[in-house]
Amino acid sequence: MALGALPGPLYGGGFWVAFRQLAAVYYLAGFLLHYVAPRVFHVKTVQVAQPRKHQVAWEAAYSIGPLLVKAGVWTLVEQLHASGRSKLYTGWPPTAQQAAYMLLTIVALDYLHDAWFYWTHRLLHWKPLYRHVHAIHHESSAPTAFCGYSFHVVEALIVFANELLVCFLFPIHLGLHRVYHIFTTIIHEGGHAGYEIAPFIPSIESLVALLLLGRRPCPALNTVRHHDMHHRYPPYHFSLYMTHWDRWCGTEHPKYRSDVAKHFPELDSSSKAAAAVAAAGAAASQDPSTPMQHCLQLVPTLAWQAHTPGEGLWTLAAAASSSDSSGPGSSDAAVAAAAGAARHLPASAAAHPLVKPEGASNILPIRELNEFRRGVGLCIYRKDGLVFAARRLDCPEGSWQMPQGGIDPLENPMRAALRELHEETGIRNARIVASIDHWLTYTFPTRVREPASILKYRGQTQKWFLLEFTGCDDEIDIAGCSHPEFSEFAWRPLASLPPSVVHFKQGVYAQVAQHFGPEIERRCAAAARMRV
Ligand SMILES: [Zn+2]
Ligand SMILES: [Zn+2]
Repeated sequence: MALGALPGPLYGGGFWVAFRQLAAVYYLAGFLLHYVAPRVFHVKTVQVAQPRKHQVAWEAAYSIGPLLVKAGVWTLVEQLHASGRSKLYTGWPPTAQQAAYMLLTIVALDYLHDAWFYWTHRLLHWKPLYRHVHAIHHESSAPTAFCGYSFHVVEALIVFANELLVCFLFPIHLGLHRVYHIFTTIIHEGGHAGYEIAPFIPSIESLVALLLLGRRPCPALNTVRHHDMHHRYPPYHFSLYMTHWDRWCGTEHPKYRSDVAKHFPELDSSSKAAAAVAAAGAAASQDPSTPMQHCLQLVPTLAWQAHTPGEGLWTLAAAASSSDSSGPGSSDAAVAAAAGAARHLPASAAAHPLVKPEGASNILPIRELNEFRRGVGLCIYRKDGLVFAARRLDCPEGSWQMPQGGIDPLENPMRAALRELHEETGIRNARIVASIDHWLTYTFPTRVREPASILKYRGQTQKWFLLEFTGCDDEIDIAGCSHPEFSEFAWRPLASLPPSVVHFKQGVYAQVAQHFGPEIERRCAAAARMRV
């Protein structure tokens, strides 16, 4: 967006001009990042969960408070300049020397902003501040671009105070101050986009890294994944532009480097990019036994442990994985160490419903347990009123179920239903005729045969669709997909299914039968009348 198109003058227009500028840039950038870019470009998600229903609206509304605070800070900055009590200056156009100085100013602002953000962010994770202020921002465990400024106004006062403080440190052009801090708004939003933007994050440091490294991510600079992981693992990743504070202070997640490396394998068939990132991360990692790390790590860790008993359990496991792992890239070692920690958990912790003593994957981030995996369920009926059911391959005692599956990021439920239909059954001749308005939810019990990738959730919340099958059994192929889930299938009365499914899904199946049973009867009767 051309700055000349911003509402009002660039600076000097007072509070409402500043607010209009901010709001225009913030909501336009949010709209482009959240709604347009994923449809125009091939983006790769970094998230494991879906945003909640109405989350975007909630985040967009909550951002108004911080935008007002930031506009207030800019008004103060203008008044400081007018009164001559700061190092701000004006004048245009700059000489070549002044332009070079302005570039250096931007780099200095980046480093200062990053340091301010890191330390104030750690302060915000101090238990009283976290509980009463910063928890609002962490309501979004799968953030969207509109989460950029979705936080408490007290947090806004802390975070934006640096924009005032820098006015006293070194000479800054007032126009550059305004443009730079408009731009940080977009950086905040990009960091919450949910898909990877690195290495194309448009900061000066990123552009230099891009020239030097090409499309390989620079280990010294952040990625979207970096902050996204903070929303899933709050004791880790407090920085904004660069990774050095997190590395120096031991707050980099042990799996971060390996996850970044996995994200970019296609850049080099010999995986040099992955190796470079992992190796650079390992070289840059500090000795976990340094006094600095131990002292600094205590602040957020203890605060988080004290938050709730459940979150304390998470921190205990995570801290063990961090200190015992052989390097940031050693995710297996980290998981194994976490399993080791589980053996030393107090009895009350080990009895947590999702903590099983025998496997490493039992250590689950508590924040993720707040989430239910979003999925779809498919009730497929044929003209005689019977519905498609299949026996689960991984369940020797033979529980049955109807096809179901997760919703991919940026996928709508109806499209997910049709994808699951083809993937799990091979059926092509079917059409969606009805759905249940609300989502049906079940919680995983203590022990359940589900893949570890699903078990990190508390359970599943599903949108159920009714499909009319118009083909013949020949097209059904339950073994043809890449991960077959069923050993056999049968057409059964819907009412007979609830007792045949695994016990923790029986409630959902009873509701499905209650909703779709009469609908199937009505549709089959109408079809029979048509045939007569
Ligand atoms: Zn955030
Ligand atoms: Zn945080």
